Amino acid sequence: MLNIILFGAPGCGKGTQAQRLAEHYDLYHISTGEVIRSEIARGTELGRSMEGYISRGELAPDSIVVEMVRDYMRTHADKGCIFDGFPRTTAQAEIFDTMLEEIGSKVDVMIFMDVPEEELVKRILLRGKDSGRKDDASEDVIRNRIEVYRQQTAIVADHYTKQQKYSEINGLGTMDEVFERLCKVIDEKR
Ligand code: ADP
Repeated sequence: MLNIILFGAPGCGKGTQAQRLAEHYDLYHISTGEVIRSEIARGTELGRSMEGYISRGELAPDSIVVEMVRDYMRTHADKGCIFDGFPRTTAQAEIFDTMLEEIGSKVDVMIFMDVPEEELVKRILLRGKDSGRKDDASEDVIRNRIEVYRQQTAIVADHYTKQQKYSEINGLGTMDEVFERLCKVIDEKR
């Protein structure tokens, strides 16, 4: 059983690669961003409470996101999982570790996908053209998300480096090239 955290700035390709990896290794895939978007689309109370944060490109509160993941794990703990967009703060990582420990599980590896900022903005603007995601349409919101990533999320790498679970790959190149680099890291952990 493998639990993998795909890590990197917005637009680095986590979502695309997470989907492929989940299929290739027969793992579940949870994107907290997608769970939040689906809550918003369904107009739930939880969704409404998070809408403002998302549209400004800020993080949703740790307490809400952590409970969403806890809820997911209740029905998805029978095989490994790819976590995409979570944990995004050190507080989330600490609670996540405890949560997994309680169910006799753990994080196996965090893989950072390294992509330069200008490429991130380019990719997200392009994606925004068909994704319909409001937070992908404005360059200001995109830059804010990257800034939030720098200020609050990048440091989560230290948390898993201390546990000797951190790896990084070059996130530039074709989707196949990036996929192969990720597989190489994962295969070494199996
Ligand atoms: P991206 O990686 O392009 O930012 P995501 O789909 O991962 O896209 O996330 C979209 C938005 O959802 C984020 O900007 C943030 O507001 C919110 N979000 C997603 N995951 C988390 C999380 N773990 N903690 C707090 N907010 C989150």
